[in-house]
Amino acid sequence: MKKDYYQAGLIGLGMGLVVFLGWNQVNLIPFLLIIGVVAGLYFLSQGKVGRGFETVGNVASVNCESNISFNDIGGQEVAKRELLEALDFLRLEEKIRQLGIRPLKGILLTGPPGTGKTLLAKAASQYTNSVFVAASGAEFVEMYAGVGAQRVRQLFSKARQLAKKVGKKSGIIFIDEIEVIAGKRGSHTSHLEYDQTLNQLLTEMDGLKPRQECQVVVIAATNRLDMLDPALIRPGRFDRQVKVDLPDREGRLRILEIHAQAKPLAAEVNLEEVAQDTYGFSGAHLESVVNEAAILAFRQEELEIRTTHLREAIDKVLLGEKLDRRPAAEELRRVAIHEIGHGLMSEILRPESVASLTVIPRGKALGFMRQTQKEEQYLYTAAYLQDQIAICLGGAVAEKAVYGHWSTGAANDFEQATDQAKQLIEAGLSRLGIISKDYMEKGKFQEVMTEILEEQLQRVGKIIAERQGLVLRVCEELQKRETVSGEWFRGEFGRKEEISKIN
Ligand code: ADP
Repeated sequence: MKKDYYQAGLIGLGMGLVVFLGWNQVNLIPFLLIIGVVAGLYFLSQGKVGRGFETVGNVASVNCESNISFNDIGGQEVAKRELLEALDFLRLEEKIRQLGIRPLKGILLTGPPGTGKTLLAKAASQYTNSVFVAASGAEFVEMYAGVGAQRVRQLFSKARQLAKKVGKKSGIIFIDEIEVIAGKRGSHTSHLEYDQTLNQLLTEMDGLKPRQECQVVVIAATNRLDMLDPALIRPGRFDRQVKVDLPDREGRLRILEIHAQAKPLAAEVNLEEVAQDTYGFSGAHLESVVNEAAILAFRQEELEIRTTHLREAIDKVLLGEKLDRRPAAEELRRVAIHEIGHGLMSEILRPESVASLTVIPRGKALGFMRQTQKEEQYLYTAAYLQDQIAICLGGAVAEKAVYGHWSTGAANDFEQATDQAKQLIEAGLSRLGIISKDYMEKGKFQEVMTEILEEQLQRVGKIIAERQGLVLRVCEELQKRETVSGEWFRGEFGRKEEISKIN
């Protein structure tokens, strides 16, 4: 407080002086320039210039009581278990000390965005009854040398001050996107500033000792473990690494249940089905699906969230907002035929795998066939990859069957198909056997890839040619309905047996 009075007094005195000199017609420009430079340097030294690092202070005070617990986090059982084990070091401090165990200083959470790393850090602070201070790597980056390092110092002292203020014995510092400041040293263009920031972080972490008034643990998150400076992950610093992966089906179900808790779901809604249809979604995506479904129900003035809302929400999260742009009638027909081509191949090769077909443009797509995945799969055989290629090619082949040629709409499918073919060759599953790309003639790889794609084109061409009448019939309906479910699509073909007969 006293400091503030002094500051106000000085500013008042300065302004008085400026008015006095101005009155006496003294040239003020040099004075003002000097004052500006001095003030700039002063604020810089206080860390008040730039992208408002004070927000860290605010975030910290807001979050000193985290209300997220591990029960609010769906899936991630392995990550939770590892984290809990690590955190017991903080909770059972006395025992740890008796055994002479070096206390834990840092935990590194690695995994894709939106998988719950921030939530885990918040739950960790609740579990250990610690204060929670958060910052993101980007907040430390400034063009002025020394600012980043000073901000690191501030962050640690903020955690300690806060713990003291609220009477807690430990603090969790969460640094998101740590790769921004902890990239390999010397690899940045303005490397001196980045290196100083990282060095400061390492120094602060080395300074974390047992029996301190406030025990601080740093939890950092990154999606780019490969970019981190090795000094950061050596023992004694971030000596625990916890992987936070995309959730499996069980995890997705649990996350959906958590986010649907306070929302009115219609009795018909089966969240297991939603979990099955959202393979590859992160926790953040799933939260968004439930939220978007609620918004759709609201827009349609309904009081409950129904299955159709959830299905549309999945499409929206996957592809983006519906576009106003409507293709001309002939183009719409082509899109419908294309999507039915994918759908037909998907149903034939993997019965019951089509979740929905749509010709409503969203994001970059004019239409879309969404598949559902019954089992999580981590390994693929040659047959699986060949089927996958056939499903990718189904759209273009159906267009060709009806129009005699395909359109540019198939370009993205071909990209996916060539990726699968590449995977097939590199895994030693092609006629070349096990290969090393480095010792291979350039043209040979392409030759085998073309062979694989050509073989699938023939296969798909034959299957679709036999079904052309069906394709055209379903196409009429799809244009009218715009979106159809997998069940409807299967019903329209009217015969699961007939579909599988061809294969
Ligand atoms: P990250 O830090 O990994 O990028 P966040 O922890 O910030 O991800 O997650 C963003 C949002 O996504 C959360 O606020 C929450 O709504 C949702 N979310 C992500 N993962 C989960 C999960 N495992 N359980 C429940 N909600 C989750």
